[in-house]
Amino acid sequence: MDRNIRANMLEGMRRMLPKEVFKIIRRMARSAEEQQLKAYVVGGFVRDLLLGLKNLDVDIVVEGDAIEFAGSAAERLNAALVAHKKFGTATLIFRKPVGGVKFKIDIATARTETYQHPAALPSVRFGSIRDDLYRRDFTINAMAVSMDKKNFGELIDFFGGRRDLERKRIRVLHGKSFIDDPTRIFRAVRFEQRYGFKIDKETVSLITHALKREMFDKVSGERLWGEIELLLKESDPLKAIKRMRTLYGLRSIDPKIRFGSKSENICKNIKGLYGRFKVYFLKKRPLDLWLAYFMAIIDNLSLKETLEACSRFAVKRGDRLRLVSCKKNEKSVMRMLCDKSEVDPSVIYRLLEPLPYETLLYIMAKCGRGLVKVRVKDFLTKYNGMRLKMRGEDLKNIGISPGPEFTKILEKALYAKLDGKLKTKRDEISFAKRSAGVVK
Ligand code: ATP
Repeated sequence: MDRNIRANMLEGMRRMLPKEVFKIIRRMARSAEEQQLKAYVVGGFVRDLLLGLKNLDVDIVVEGDAIEFAGSAAERLNAALVAHKKFGTATLIFRKPVGGVKFKIDIATARTETYQHPAALPSVRFGSIRDDLYRRDFTINAMAVSMDKKNFGELIDFFGGRRDLERKRIRVLHGKSFIDDPTRIFRAVRFEQRYGFKIDKETVSLITHALKREMFDKVSGERLWGEIELLLKESDPLKAIKRMRTLYGLRSIDPKIRFGSKSENICKNIKGLYGRFKVYFLKKRPLDLWLAYFMAIIDNLSLKETLEACSRFAVKRGDRLRLVSCKKNEKSVMRMLCDKSEVDPSVIYRLLEPLPYETLLYIMAKCGRGLVKVRVKDFLTKYNGMRLKMRGEDLKNIGISPGPEFTKILEKALYAKLDGKLKTKRDEISFAKRSAGVVK
């Protein structure tokens, strides 16, 4: 192996990795040596290292028993060990976080995979590092870095991954790749768009061939949904969706999805509006931006078709609830928001408050009208955070005990405050007294 490459890999690891991670890898290499095992860092970590990008997803493959190796490494490094006996893999979880997040390393035994029939789960046998790399999706993900003492840092690249990185190409390792596992089609688009690469010509025709054979129909809904989520979590999902469209149309995902210029515009607006209102959207809980993009993708589907798509993709319950709530409410909410007559803030509040933020963002993006944007913006920036100054204690002091009436009065007082009728705490208490009939 070219000495320069080895030096570069080592230099890259030193430069890119936090010191403690580099040390951990070194110490694991020592464990491997003591057990006379060959160990390698593999996959996305190596790809990103060569690209000079930060990636702390360390995956290690050993030619030998991964769980046994992980056990001794866990002791040496004082890490917690989680063994997955069924798969012959293990995870080391480190007590000290790295860069503020929990740090873990996955370890697997090198294996070879064979697919009994298209899109089936593979049968697995233990094998060499070459076998293990050959079962991977693309050449750029099929490289390893040796952890051997003698050649620590050596790049193992049987299939031209480094050259493809230089040529900016996504290329499969063999012609049956997408038939074995059609989810790799999503992965090809994901990596291509993320790195600004090109899917190799032959690989594109293999994709088209697999899609013509309707290979996605053979994949479980859960796996497809997982891939859709990952694709939409990329930094520019619109580019990725459009690329999926040029490959074989989105009909391979769902025959009813159109994804025309209207959906494209919604996606563009989602990106822009999220950038502008992020702080408000994130005030209460994380917003699943990718789900708002999915709402744009299925914009042309009816409620019934949305429910069918949800069953086909085995959409998770929480995601399904938000998609269905969006379909059920979007028309009536948009009608109200577009109404040019004066609408009280409390009415807007009651309309928008029960909706998931993803739906709000999608509605805002869908309605080009300024009035809608202003109303949703007011809801997000002013009304949604508004609180009463009076507390439950104040109500108790004026003789209203907790119960349904108590809650109703607090709610009514909040609406009055939203509409600008109550300014001070004293106003609020007087309002409560009047509402409870304590005073006229
Ligand atoms: P990302 O940067 O998006 O996390 P990744 O490639 O680093 O991508 P994983 O999806 O965790 O991360 O995959 C790790 C490695 O496992 C890949 O680099 C690839 O070698 C292999 N791999 C993952 N999915 C597949 C697949 N469907 N078919 C073949 N190999 C796969």
